Amino acid sequence: MHGLLDDAEEKTPNAPAVRDAHGVWTYRELAAHSRAFARWLSDRGVRRGDRVVLQLPTGRELVAMFHGALRCGAVFVPLNPSMKAFHLRHVIGNAEPALVIGDEATAEKLAEATTRPIERMAALWPEVERLRALDATFTDPEVRPDDVATLIYTSGSTAAPKAVICPHAQVAFATRALTEALGYRSDDVVLCRFPMSWDYGLYKVLMTCAVRCEVVLAERDSDLQLLRRMREVGATVVPLVPSLATMLVTLAERSPGGQAPVRMFTNTGAALPQATIDTLRAHFPGARVVRQYGQTEAKRITVMPPEEDRERPGSSGLPLPGTQVLILDGDGSPVPAGEVGEIVAVGPHVMPGYWRNDENTAKAFRTDPATGERRLHTGDYGRLDGDGYLYFEGRRDDMFKRKGFRMSTVEIEAAAMDVPGIRAAAALPPSDKHDLALFVEADLTPGAVRKELARRLEPAKVPAICRVLTEFPLTQNGKNARQELALLLDGSAL
Ligand code: ASP
Repeated sequence: MHGLLDDAEEKTPNAPAVRDAHGVWTYRELAAHSRAFARWLSDRGVRRGDRVVLQLPTGRELVAMFHGALRCGAVFVPLNPSMKAFHLRHVIGNAEPALVIGDEATAEKLAEATTRPIERMAALWPEVERLRALDATFTDPEVRPDDVATLIYTSGSTAAPKAVICPHAQVAFATRALTEALGYRSDDVVLCRFPMSWDYGLYKVLMTCAVRCEVVLAERDSDLQLLRRMREVGATVVPLVPSLATMLVTLAERSPGGQAPVRMFTNTGAALPQATIDTLRAHFPGARVVRQYGQTEAKRITVMPPEEDRERPGSSGLPLPGTQVLILDGDGSPVPAGEVGEIVAVGPHVMPGYWRNDENTAKAFRTDPATGERRLHTGDYGRLDGDGYLYFEGRRDDMFKRKGFRMSTVEIEAAAMDVPGIRAAAALPPSDKHDLALFVEADLTPGAVRKELARRLEPAKVPAICRVLTEFPLTQNGKNARQELALLLDGSAL
């Protein structure tokens, strides 16, 4: 993976590489910082295969540290700064790092979670700067394609986080395939609002490096500054999740005109409702809104070709070039086009498994009995159309039967988001504790919401319970926090 940065440094040393709230580094500066950090790591005795846990904000330093760790063949383990000591304890126990790095906001929590010494940024970074000024040498050890580049802990809200093992080969393949499928350009400015502890954020750093364009890290900016920042930096590509898209639309409504030169919004993690896509297009004329589907376990699985962004509403596109999507029934046999089954990904993007977690690895990563190829059983359901475009139907838990109808929370949420005035929606399937329920963030009464839904859905699909919230609980990555919503419904969160 570090070949990417060396290549960019050689070809475009003076091009802007990474910008954050404090400034910008060119590819030459980024590469020099990454070598200095690699040297710092090796001076500390970090060797190939050692894990380095970092609980830091997403800024230029973290990008340099990522590339620096890759150079040493060390395993970069970025954790969300908001992860609490409870999960940190489990994660550090699982990762068994050679080094743990924190800053003034996280070092105390980390110290609560482990007896290992915590390296603090305030002391560490001046050292790295000193090594950089000395132009300290570092000889890259031989790093092999199956060496692990990074462990990405998925943010389980109740279950303990699991780490997806991401080797250099898979990461390099996904980076190239994605830049190709999305058509990233060397003059792009990609504004990334997501932390590097989520792969949606992490790959922005790699994809921009692969085409030698600029990434703007805006994780720490306040939501209210988002649009201003996009204009200021001239953002051309902006990755979104629904909550961020809604915020952006609200900001654009308040401050119309003079929009940033955005040519492409991308979406994954949770699907943008059609109504949000339409409003985005109205505020950013000419911008494409590219739908995608992915799981950290294979990085990204499908991408809608950007030039087809208005076609096949509801589809999340085609498999990454060089990969395949299968739709399998309960017995593992392929179902005909148009029929719903489990989404299974095959190809060089499929990761080897979860770190030190054989049980979950065996469930999700299985071998094709016919070809011996490893494939990822996503646990998500969907269908392919006759041309091989994927339509996501929901997770296994999102699909249920009610009053004799098969349905998915996804279609109920989509109908809710079509109602003017609803800013967020999450449906919970019926359980033994409650009937089909819908949570919305809106200025409408529950009665008005149900009435609007009855105009859009068959009677069996209209939720029996509707709760209106003023603020929606979100996970660290901006997805709906379903577990918290379920607690609200059971009354156990009261
Ligand atoms: N890995 C996914 C993607 O980039 C995002 C996710 O797992 O939520 O498509």
